[in-house]
Amino acid sequence: MENMQSRIPPDISDYTFDLILVGAGINGAGIARDAAMRGLKVLLLDKGDIASGTTSWSTRLIHGGLRYLEYYEFCLVQESLSEREKLLRIAPHLVKPLPFVVPVYEHSKRGPMMIRLGMFAYDFLSFNKSMDWHKILSRDEVLERIPGLEPEGLLAAALYYDGQTEYAERLAVENAVSAHEHGAIVLTYAEVERLIVDKENVVGIEFIDLLGSGKYTVNAPVIVNVAGPWVDEVLRQMNSTEECMIGGTKGSHLVVDPFPGAPAGEALYVEAKADGRPFFIVPWNGRYLIGTTDIRYEGDLDLVVADDEEIDYLINETNTIIPEAGLSRDKILFTYSGIRPLPYQPEGAEGSVTRSHIVYDHTRHHPKIGGLVSIIGGKLTTYRNLSRQTVNVVYEKLGEKAPECRTDEVPLPGGTTRSFEEFSAGFKRTSGLAEELSTRLLKIYGVRAPEVLAMAGDDPSLRAPLASPFSMETGIIGAEVLYAFRHELAGKLGDVLLRRSMVGLGPRVGLDVDETAAQIAVRHLGWSRERAELEVREFRDYIRRLRPKDLHETEPLKA
Ligand SMILES: Cc1cc2nc3c(=O)[nH]c(=O)nc-3n(C[C@H](O)[C@H](O)[C@H](O)COP(=O)(O)OP(=O)(O)OC[C@H]3O[C@@H](n4cnc5c(N)ncnc54)[C@H](O)[C@@H]3O)c2cc1C
Repeated sequence: MENMQSRIPPDISDYTFDLILVGAGINGAGIARDAAMRGLKVLLLDKGDIASGTTSWSTRLIHGGLRYLEYYEFCLVQESLSEREKLLRIAPHLVKPLPFVVPVYEHSKRGPMMIRLGMFAYDFLSFNKSMDWHKILSRDEVLERIPGLEPEGLLAAALYYDGQTEYAERLAVENAVSAHEHGAIVLTYAEVERLIVDKENVVGIEFIDLLGSGKYTVNAPVIVNVAGPWVDEVLRQMNSTEECMIGGTKGSHLVVDPFPGAPAGEALYVEAKADGRPFFIVPWNGRYLIGTTDIRYEGDLDLVVADDEEIDYLINETNTIIPEAGLSRDKILFTYSGIRPLPYQPEGAEGSVTRSHIVYDHTRHHPKIGGLVSIIGGKLTTYRNLSRQTVNVVYEKLGEKAPECRTDEVPLPGGTTRSFEEFSAGFKRTSGLAEELSTRLLKIYGVRAPEVLAMAGDDPSLRAPLASPFSMETGIIGAEVLYAFRHELAGKLGDVLLRRSMVGLGPRVGLDVDETAAQIAVRHLGWSRERAELEVREFRDYIRRLRPKDLHETEPLKA
């Protein structure tokens, strides 16, 4: 494929790396950035795109995890709340505060006293936060705020603040881009097929270029297996004697248009009537994200789809808490599902499995296995701290003193400004774009919005939205297609739509712009017409797993 053959240096086997990372989700990308910033020579590989695994399928909250208090995970909550503050600082364009309302009913498993205690603990564990402290709302106050809420049995509610990253994919992409800018080599569509073992030490990997240029071997003293739910699959490549490490649970979400009775600017955090599990109704990207489920999963990790039962569960629970919502299957714009890469725990409730991560140095458990570290579990919220800990372990294994980690203070590429508000106001004044388009570029690319716009040069067609009519969520402009390929490590059309410009997670899942975007690549990036057609077909095939309203399912889904 044109444009891509040269992405893998033909002599890569001769390169000297300190660290190879298998998997470019939020954790792989975060480790790559931290390691490259501290001076290590890093190779980051993914068999798909950056963030194309679990990282794309979360609830997108940067949160302490109020729920974890029930399991006495105070350290995890404190760590998460502290990370939340750091992410608000280093990625002001991607991470924002969001108010949450927790209604309490007569029948709630968690009564007013328990919620009050939880709220105090949550505030206490984040006493130096930038967000407001919680408030208890009376029945009248909560109904005034969210009139659509089921009034029967309602006693009161708690109002508190947490973080949201609407585009978690971009958090990972910006980490990978930053790693690349600090010298890391980042290869997508590069599947690791074998861990190379020499006298029981893992000394390298063999990977295949899924875009067709062949197989390669690369060596490094430390390999980190950060393949999320695929961690065990990667370990099997060296005939590992390790027990099962991951016990994945599946979580699904629905995306719907604003509906009658929906909360206006806040998220609802509700106890499901059917089973008492907490779930969220979150304002997201101009629409609502409803989720999630939590079910043990042993199916195909490469094709995870929300099933009818999960969809009905989330619809019913939403209609129960907001009786006028009137949601039904035909109102769902699309769904998505992912597998939580949790530590293996065959028994007990799914919700009770710890959400803490483990940086598993195989040498500590099996002294004969050198050179290998696996990452088990971890949340989006804690990726930065997980990365810091992992890079420290890498230095330990290299026998070197670790330089100081600076990812808590050095902003991500789109966040490098003292005041994002001032920067945004300036960009809106000078960009010459409609307000909605400027806002959109700022929300996605932060302070790099002018660089994106500069891709248009003096071609006005590249500054115009591809969709007509367009909205905040669908207003991709041609310049973004070029920016994604030239500056943000995109390899395929689907990468541009789903994980760079984010229109693939808009109401029409990118179906209104995919062909035009591919045509831009034909005109400006030298794609052949055949390639453009193939990429559109591949993209449409891929997004069928989201069960989008706009795409009828006529054939079985393929992994
Ligand atoms: C339903 C759900 C809701 C969640 N909600 C939240 C939330 O609100 N807040 C929060 O903080 N966390 C949340 N999480 C958790 C969070 O999303 C994950 O823990 C996190 O994204 C894991 O990132 P990762 O990088 O470890 O894994 P992944 O994102 O899965 O990345 C692993 C990567 O490895 C690659 N890979 C696999 N095998 C190979 C191979 N052989 N060669 C090369 N590459 C390979 C994959 O392609 C993949 O991109 C949620 C998770 C789920 C499932």
